[in-house]
Amino acid sequence: MIEDSYLATREMPWRQFGGGIDFKVLRTSQETGAWTVMFRCAAGCAFAPHRHLGGGEYLVLKGTMELRGGKEQGGTTATAGDYGYEPNGVLHDSTYFPQETELYFTNNGAIQFLTPDLKPDFVLDYAKLREFEQAAPLAAS
Ligand code: ZN
Repeated sequence: MIEDSYLATREMPWRQFGGGIDFKVLRTSQETGAWTVMFRCAAGCAFAPHRHLGGGEYLVLKGTMELRGGKEQGGTTATAGDYGYEPNGVLHDSTYFPQETELYFTNNGAIQFLTPDLKPDFVLDYAKLREFEQAAPLAAS
């Protein structure tokens, strides 16, 4: 039987994901491949282009996230309290944070990160995320 879990996320340290983005791993599942994290993204930083290889959900806790150029360019601008679902297969060529932003994100599978010219770079799945977490230096609180 799998036990329920509880985390006081405020007491967990942020770790460096890279490129001005910090993360906290809340849950990973070898059984389903799902993983849940919090991301803290510094003003002006962005995720590398990526394709979702499993449906994902986010909830913006604070700040602003602009997907595909944001609302003004036909994409999405999500601010604190906003929720989004990202289906399996969706391509995010641009995910930009104009101000410091925190979000909750759970993904039911992996993410294929891409180079700037959209060639495969690396796959982030639950196992790679665990490796990342072990190796990632602590971020400034
Ligand atoms: Zn995405």
